[in-house]
Amino acid sequence: MRTKTRSRCMGVIRLVTAMMFYFIAAVNPLPAAETAARTLQQTLTALNAVFYWDSLFQSGMISVNGHNVVFNTGQHGQRDYALYDNSRLLDLPVPWINKGVLYFPEEFIVSVRSIFENSALNETFNFKIAAIMIDPGHGGKDTGATSNHVIKGKKINVVEKDIALAVSKDLYSKLKTAFPGKKILISRTGDTYPSLSDRIAMANSVPLRDNEAIIYISIHANASFNKRARGFEVWFLDPRHDRMVIDKNTAKEYKEIAPILNDILQEEFNRESGQLAAFIYQEMKESFGSSLPARGMKAEDFFVVRKALMPSVLVELAFVTNPDDAVLLTNAASLKKFSDSIYKGIMDFVTMFEKMSGGVSSQ
Ligand SMILES: [Zn+2]
Repeated sequence: MRTKTRSRCMGVIRLVTAMMFYFIAAVNPLPAAETAARTLQQTLTALNAVFYWDSLFQSGMISVNGHNVVFNTGQHGQRDYALYDNSRLLDLPVPWINKGVLYFPEEFIVSVRSIFENSALNETFNFKIAAIMIDPGHGGKDTGATSNHVIKGKKINVVEKDIALAVSKDLYSKLKTAFPGKKILISRTGDTYPSLSDRIAMANSVPLRDNEAIIYISIHANASFNKRARGFEVWFLDPRHDRMVIDKNTAKEYKEIAPILNDILQEEFNRESGQLAAFIYQEMKESFGSSLPARGMKAEDFFVVRKALMPSVLVELAFVTNPDDAVLLTNAASLKKFSDSIYKGIMDFVTMFEKMSGGVSSQ
């Protein structure tokens, strides 16, 4: 059933989103290993910076040439978000206070310094898609939607998790070949069910610079009680949905700027999700023509996004419950066609995204 499948998918998605928020809020403890640290004075000298301190909130601001990093202090070994130029979150180990002395972890200094250096070199952000994550829906004990058909006297069993994997793996290898300089990830390569935290950990494992983004493509197949329902759909984040991209705990920390920051990020990432969806949709439409109906681009409040800051789409390839779609979904040539058209859509997006943002600053 379509709605049932939808709500199950979305249930998972909402849970993941909730977990992402937890991850944003969480202060991740590091192993107890000693961290190289510097005192405030050494740090300021290292960064050639000006320092402001808010003793009430135990937070500080480092300023270099009009660019700022705002940070909280915490326990030695914790991580938290620092905020760069009121617009970007930096996941860094926190500075800590010991016997009245403020210490900065080496990683904090190195990251902040490289951010300041980048902004000096490149006043216009030269955005790049550094990573692409492919997520074959379901897997292992979770089959996704399934349906049996008799086609030309032959019994076939159409299983969503297998279709999603076949298309995803092909898409993955195409992207790997096309983008040797980008990190291409896939959430599973066999009939396994990576836990939600596994999928999140994988997306979060990609180190991204300030000017880099990761995009996320989830592959699924659809189902409906109405066996005549057929065709493909591309889902993306609803740009009209007024949702908190920045979670409430972060918002508490940056009470005043959080709503502004949220608006900026929400607008940016929803727009990009919509563009990515549109390119994939268009390529699928061109590729399949009349052989597979285009059911439209759909917007919904979902789903797995890296720190909720990742352009993300979900593709419903076709209906396992429709006999014509089932033929496409069990035929190697048309599965290639699916992965090929999604691949082209991603290429279109990456080309546009990197050209648009890189054109000015590369002069
Ligand atoms: Zn699904």
